[in-house]
Amino acid sequence: MTDQQNPVNLSHALFDRFVLAGTCKDVRQNFSELCRHLQLDAQDYRHFYGKLKEKLNYWNAKELWEKIDKRAAHPDYDQGKPCAKTKCLVLGAGPCGLRTAIELALLGAQVVLLEKRTSFSRNNVLHLWPYTIRDLRNLGAKKFYGKFCSGSLDHISIRQLQLILLKLALILGVEVHTGVTYNGLVEPQASGTGWRALLLPDSHPASSYQFDVFISAGGGRFVPDGFKRKELRGKLAIGITANFVNHRTKAEAQVPEISGVARIYNQKFFRDLQTEMGIDLENIVYYKDDTHYFVMTAKKNSLLKKGVIMQDNANVEQLLAPANVNGEALLNYARDAAEFSTGRKLPNLEFATNHNAEADVAMFDFTCMHRAEYSSMVMERKGKKLLIGLVGDCLVEPFWPLGTGIARGFLAAFDTAWMVRSWGKGTAHMQVLAERESVYQLLSQTTPENTSKNHAAYSIDPSTRYPNVNMSSIKPIQVKHLYNVEGHL
Ligand code: FAD
Repeated sequence: MTDQQNPVNLSHALFDRFVLAGTCKDVRQNFSELCRHLQLDAQDYRHFYGKLKEKLNYWNAKELWEKIDKRAAHPDYDQGKPCAKTKCLVLGAGPCGLRTAIELALLGAQVVLLEKRTSFSRNNVLHLWPYTIRDLRNLGAKKFYGKFCSGSLDHISIRQLQLILLKLALILGVEVHTGVTYNGLVEPQASGTGWRALLLPDSHPASSYQFDVFISAGGGRFVPDGFKRKELRGKLAIGITANFVNHRTKAEAQVPEISGVARIYNQKFFRDLQTEMGIDLENIVYYKDDTHYFVMTAKKNSLLKKGVIMQDNANVEQLLAPANVNGEALLNYARDAAEFSTGRKLPNLEFATNHNAEADVAMFDFTCMHRAEYSSMVMERKGKKLLIGLVGDCLVEPFWPLGTGIARGFLAAFDTAWMVRSWGKGTAHMQVLAERESVYQLLSQTTPENTSKNHAAYSIDPSTRYPNVNMSSIKPIQVKHLYNVEGHL
């Protein structure tokens, strides 16, 4: 009998293939195959992880179970009891939606996650704060992606991070649907029915699901109905990202990364770049991952002089409108900056491609950052309550030079899970909202320095992460406007 014919060895091979799958499609396909082979029902969210563990009792799987079990044994999850009757809909399979879904599953909730895209294609590389590295390591990130933060590396591409979290979410019984667009909420129609979602395709089975918690993690441009955003306007800031193919040669491996050089710290470098290449930057970062990734803030005048931007315009949207950008000049600008900043040691720089099969270079404006005015809300119709929470970029847009996206995104994911825990435990809804908003007040100020240094003790309980957090700084009476009940608004 060959290994592939032996059912035990085949299940190990299928699991190994799932663990190492490198695309969203392969993860999902390998997962389905594994479930079919092991005769496991992935929708049996309550027992799925336990049964999978029983069936895969060999070293590679066991190493992962040990890590997951350690996390799941934390008293905050109380063996999945707090949310055993809670049904959650999570919108968006970005890093923050996936991270939240994992926590909700650990709390015992039934979790359905919807994602409009069918592939994970973002090459851009994210800088991670130390606590997020530890968090991901403790969840077995290295099993799924062997290169995860090896040595002193503190970054990962968005797509690799999504792949790690997607695999974990599936293992924990989260029901994930890709290629499904969320188009809004459907209110309960009669007293017996619950909250549902309007989806595209509208015939998708998930459109008939009823839920009592809705988590929006749809990214920076997505604001669910009823939420307001504040705009923080800074001085004009134009970012450029560029990804080049990493052929993984010895020569490429030797080129040192640039983990954030700002103009004030290396004036000579930026002066030389301007004199020799006509490129004027505020800062530049270079990380090596699946691609050679560069991100920089460019000054408008040098973009005009180099013909990247064709016509000056006081309105940033019009300034960076595709019709006002010379694509070829932008590619040259990004390649020249990359070559110069790495001392021309990266041979034959060749652009990696994006999801549209075009050179992966983007220019974007981050002059205005948005932040949601509040992070939660309760809606009630026909006597059915729905708790809504925001996480990730749709809650607070990050400032990329500080690498706050994932760090604050995961903090909000934990805070949101804590809120859903209270909800599941039957805490009065005004109390749940008041506590959540008390914690949310801290998020925008968080830095690696003012959050707890005891990363090993981090849990979904805010007091493990924010020193001196006051969970009742906002009183229930102050969040009355976040309770949206039929006939009152
Ligand atoms: P996203 O990653 O945007 O995911 C949202 C998901 O929701 C998407 O997959 C989208 O397809 C889906 N979606 C949206 N609408 C719908 C809908 N209607 N129906 C179904 N699905 C939907 N962060 C760092 O921590 N460190 C860094 O160094 C860093 N550098 C950055 C550099 C640049 C240039 C940029 C632009 C950002 C950077 N960030 C960085 C920020 C980081 O990328 C984001 O914080 C992070 O990706 C946000 O995750 P998210 O899950 O909130 O949203």
